[in-house]
Amino acid sequence: MKTIVLGYPRVGEKRELKKATEKYWKNDISEDDLSTITRQLREKSWRTQQNQGIDLISSNDFSLYDQVLDMCITLGCIPERFKNLGGLQQYFAMARGHQANGVDATAMEMTKWFDTNYHFIVPEFIKNQVFILNSEKIVNEIQEASELGISSKPVIIGPITFLLLGKEKEEGINRLELLDEVLPVYKQLILEIDKHGVDYLQIDEPILATDLTKEEQLVFARSYDYFSKINVDLKFILANYFDCYGKNLELALKLPVHVLHIDVVRCSLQLNDILDANLLGDKILSLGIVDGRNIWINDFEKSLALIEKAKSKLSINQIWIGTSCSLLHVPYNLELEENNTQLNSEVKQWLAFAKQKLQEISVLKQLVINKKNDAVVSLFVKNKKANESRKVSALIHNNIVKRRVDKLTLADSERVSQFSMRQVLQRKELRLPLFPTTTIGSFPQTKEVRKTRAKFKKGEISQEEYDAFIQKETEETIRFQEEVDLDVLVHGEFERNDMVEYFGEQLEGFVFTKFGWVQSYGTRCVKPPIIFGDVSRPKPMTVKWSAYAQSITKKHVKGMLTGPVTILQWSFVRNDQARSVTCNQIALAIRDEVIDLENAGVKIIQIDEPALREGLPLRKEDWEAYLHWAVNAFKISASAVKDETQIHTHMCYAEFNDIIESIAHMDADVITIETSRSEMELLKAFVDFKYPNEIGPGVYDIHSPRVPSQEEMEYLLDKASSLFPDGNIWVNPDCGLKTRDWPETKTALKNLVQSANRMREKVSYVA
Ligand code: GLN
Ligand code: ZN
Repeated sequence: MKTIVLGYPRVGEKRELKKATEKYWKNDISEDDLSTITRQLREKSWRTQQNQGIDLISSNDFSLYDQVLDMCITLGCIPERFKNLGGLQQYFAMARGHQANGVDATAMEMTKWFDTNYHFIVPEFIKNQVFILNSEKIVNEIQEASELGISSKPVIIGPITFLLLGKEKEEGINRLELLDEVLPVYKQLILEIDKHGVDYLQIDEPILATDLTKEEQLVFARSYDYFSKINVDLKFILANYFDCYGKNLELALKLPVHVLHIDVVRCSLQLNDILDANLLGDKILSLGIVDGRNIWINDFEKSLALIEKAKSKLSINQIWIGTSCSLLHVPYNLELEENNTQLNSEVKQWLAFAKQKLQEISVLKQLVINKKNDAVVSLFVKNKKANESRKVSALIHNNIVKRRVDKLTLADSERVSQFSMRQVLQRKELRLPLFPTTTIGSFPQTKEVRKTRAKFKKGEISQEEYDAFIQKETEETIRFQEEVDLDVLVHGEFERNDMVEYFGEQLEGFVFTKFGWVQSYGTRCVKPPIIFGDVSRPKPMTVKWSAYAQSITKKHVKGMLTGPVTILQWSFVRNDQARSVTCNQIALAIRDEVIDLENAGVKIIQIDEPALREGLPLRKEDWEAYLHWAVNAFKISASAVKDETQIHTHMCYAEFNDIIESIAHMDADVITIETSRSEMELLKAFVDFKYPNEIGPGVYDIHSPRVPSQEEMEYLLDKASSLFPDGNIWVNPDCGLKTRDWPETKTALKNLVQSANRMREKVSYVA
């Protein structure tokens, strides 16, 4: 029984890779320096895995930016606009764009890797796409490992996942038709890898966790048949993760590979199907039993039962155990949290980061093959005790919260009256002009804001000094908005570092790590909060600044909250109860905050849900159940107010066309939504469906420093006006302004107000 790790994090325990790469971009260090640092990082993670007795350690799981981008390079799938560049310059240009010496090449698109918060670079395909092998990186890493005495298992992305994740950049082609072009290059690659004496090659095909068409299944079979005929000694591991094989199971079982990996964490039930099908033959079954997506310790007792089940049908040599997916998605090492006073030892005993997960895998193996060993038995007992303590811990379980969730009824998710009625009452109450203007919440977070917050966190300035600073920023921002003459103001969110962290820090049931970094994309890392216990709100979280802002202006100031689904989605969530239950707990905390804001005189409250769509399951058949509880959680948070109080929501980062009905079911009075980059393409869906409530299609793309003109925004508003009743249209940027600078923001918002004015003139003209 071998142990296998599908991949290891690569940014470095202290984000060394991020720091080095960013220095390299600034020309502060040379390419040689960078490669020395990356070599050290790889050595360290290989050694860590080796020391924990892992049998199958990955190579080529390292990446300077992204593994899909690496695969593009390996297959020579390089868009024309980067062809004049070479080496690292080309590589980073593909990821980040390149503007120099008359070359102006926009970056390749980036999108989420399945249902994770990791973003990959989307491969681009054209009509006569050529693929050419470049095996340098893979071969180098295999050699590097072997020089350190480690016989590694290289990992690559399989052809079907690679093609299906990519995008056709020209009309009239279908990316699957490129299969015959790409397969021979894969063959060369496999031959090349085989020359370097590796025993196993891991081919990742997580696309198997999604719905595949008949055609896609057929090309799958064809590709792997083709691979099986290549004359090599190495053996193939086919890795699927993040969900079951589902309807692709029969296909997967029949593929001529030596090892089939399943994500047992996500689908322990499918293990039965696989064992019962009796189709494995002499294939090895790799059980991904240690969770690569979350930070909780394994339940050894449960895992052993699953392994026993496998043992009842398979010989022990036919069973491997390992991580459910790559450990890329969890932080490095819990030991680094030693001085984290927040993370008390009770919570800590329930956590396992990447390094701890390695140990879990090897302990599990020992428990299977070496049951009587005292040391292992005591680790088993420790694990059992920790898991049992979690079930009853007073730190986690808050009966008041549980009872509140149990008692929720349908009425708690509904406003008093329906929208058409509320709209009338809100118009009376708020007295806003036609085409009301607003922003999404945050205003520029300047260096000064960030510096002052850092100083406060380090204790270098007092609470009073910090508050005085925030107050000054808020006041200036209110005056600024009055000056540009926006209709609905915001307080600017200067007190917030991050839209989830800010709330998590004030809620019970959350903890934060010091070094729990996880790669989000390229050199960007995030430190997701950990939701370990029942969530409750000890006291108001946002009322102070919202009420202050409202007190200094006659205009309406919009209260600003992060919604329950987004808080859930961007955290590590406890695995001892359904996500929907945790989400409802957060929803209740936000609901209380909404009520407090209303009582403080705030008449418009925005509850941001940019991550609603991200939570969608990989398989369509599971969408409905998810959307049902997610939308309901939002409604719980939003529905306790009187009809006159206007609830806004905001969404961005995604295409929403396919979930438009659910968005309507959220029943927010107003939705502000990102659309400007797709020239309001998105809005078509809102029209086909006749989106019933008010809507603010983003007319100013805040992701770029360019200032949109009044005419541009007016053009977009004209479009919106042809699609929706004028009385339902809001005028706003497409997201928060926190990453922008003040001067450009000023000009852009002046133009935005102008465009709304123009729209008003036109309407009164017609009338
Ligand atoms: N209110 C938040 C802001 O303006 C919304 C951010 C987001 O949509 N990601 O920053
Ligand atoms: Zn946004």
